[in-house]
Amino acid sequence: AKGLGKNQYCVYNDTMGMKEIRKMELEKDLQRALKDKQFYLMYQPKWNVKTNKLAGFEALLRWKHPRLGVISPAEFIPIAEETGHIVPITRWTLEQACIQCKEWQEKGDIHPISVNISIRLFQTDKLADFVQSVLEKVELDPNLLELEITESMVLFDVEDIVRQLQSIRALGVKISMDDFGTGYSSIGLLDRLPIDSLKLDRLFTNDLETPSKRAIINAILLMAENLHLDVIAEGVESREHIESLTQLGCNVMQGYYYGKPMESEDVDDWVKNNKE
Ligand code: C2E
Ligand code: CA
Ligand code: CA
Ligand code: CA
Repeated sequence: AKGLGKNQYCVYNDTMGMKEIRKMELEKDLQRALKDKQFYLMYQPKWNVKTNKLAGFEALLRWKHPRLGVISPAEFIPIAEETGHIVPITRWTLEQACIQCKEWQEKGDIHPISVNISIRLFQTDKLADFVQSVLEKVELDPNLLELEITESMVLFDVEDIVRQLQSIRALGVKISMDDFGTGYSSIGLLDRLPIDSLKLDRLFTNDLETPSKRAIINAILLMAENLHLDVIAEGVESREHIESLTQLGCNVMQGYYYGKPMESEDVDDWVKNNKE
């Protein structure tokens, strides 16, 4: 079927056809998802094993599609990035997360919140100004907000990214490098990037028994220490993970062992049950 026109897929591969059809449908439905209030946030705890205290929550986006049910961000974020819908979606997410964080604070619970920010937001007008406007509107302490960015963004205009990150940090907001160690390596740029922490990708946590992977984590932790960066391990699912990571000197962990992403109504109970 090679060489067939764009509209003649699905000739020999049914699975591929289904995927294409689903993608087109999601692309179309993304247009009204925000307006129709189909998005909501889940919150996953981060735990500091050294102080034995909650270190904050990461906000994770969900799309409740009217017909297809809950759709994973792993599926719809790449589509939203392609179509540009990611910009209004991220703005909504950031504001929602800040509102939630403020709500917790007003109840007497101080939990920092982190929000995933796509590279596309750095290509729009003045991300720092937008972040500042949300913080002011919500009256949230900037120290309680953290933005998670990914390594791939440094492939773009590094000077410009550095400037934008500096403006955001000048507000008092923290920056974390997500999925560190996967994809495009930014190690050569780490000393130039104004960031506060690294999030070790879950692939490393899953491979702790492999001596070569342990060596890499060890090196990353040493480097981070020298650069005064905190390290958060992702995908922590077991006692063994915690023991190995602690031995290697990692103090903050996130993963199913501590808690899966939960709805905001369930956060209070989780916090109560996990007070040490
Ligand atoms: P991420 O930022 O690396 O988020 C962590 C993902 O790993 C989450 O999946 C979380 O549910 C999952 N996870 C956490 N702990 C464990 C664990 O112990 N084991 C396993 N197997 N998985 C774990 P989720 O919520 O499906 O999000 C997937 C990705 O979608 C995120 O990866 C992030 O890249 C993206 N994403 C999520 N929310 C947003 C958002 O608001 N904006 C943007 N731009 N991207 C988002
Ligand atoms: Ca993240
Ligand atoms: Ca991650
Ligand atoms: Ca990831």
